[in-house]
Amino acid sequence: MYLVKTPNFIQKLFPNFIWKMPTEEKVVYLTFDDGPIPEVTPWVMEQLATYDAKATFFCVGDNVKKHGSILQQLRENGHSIGNHTFNHLNGWQTDNVTYLRNVRKGAHAVHSELFRPPYGKVKPSQAKFLNRHYRVVMWDILSGDFDPNISREQCLENVIRNTQSGSIIVFHDSLKAKEKLEYVLPRTLAFLHQQGYRFEALSEQSLSSKKKKSA
Ligand SMILES: [Zn+2]
Repeated sequence: MYLVKTPNFIQKLFPNFIWKMPTEEKVVYLTFDDGPIPEVTPWVMEQLATYDAKATFFCVGDNVKKHGSILQQLRENGHSIGNHTFNHLNGWQTDNVTYLRNVRKGAHAVHSELFRPPYGKVKPSQAKFLNRHYRVVMWDILSGDFDPNISREQCLENVIRNTQSGSIIVFHDSLKAKEKLEYVLPRTLAFLHQQGYRFEALSEQSLSSKKKKSA
């Protein structure tokens, strides 16, 4: 069970996390979790390039270790990189020491202070540590591209119906999401571009102004 649009009350539980960017401009932030992998990530980069779109990739350290050249291509193409732990751990099911060690190992692999917890699941005690050391980036729209129980048309609807200025949208550059992503990503880019949106990457600089405000 998951929610396409993150409700306000959940956002308020973790006020130091980034859920959406504060802007009135027509800018959206596409994010891709779980890569990089050769079967999907280079294709995603091609799609983005068609619209000169920049995005943020929350990478699993173990994949980075195996596919370092893709990580480098992402950087060369102007995309941002974030950490998604080294082994895609679920914070709710992992003791703090193991979890935080895995987060740190992931940060080393990707050289980034941006962090997104796998499944969006962290305990308050883990959140406290994360806020001290990283910029935690959540989302306001979950595409559901990983969900075998929704159609690709529904997945596209999830995204285009809920997008607003400053939205942070989650996709996955994973094998599980591949089929849906191949349908949804080109159409999302085309639709939002037509609506006048730009696609930008989240950067540590663009997030640090928010950090000061909410710290
Ligand atoms: Zn993930």
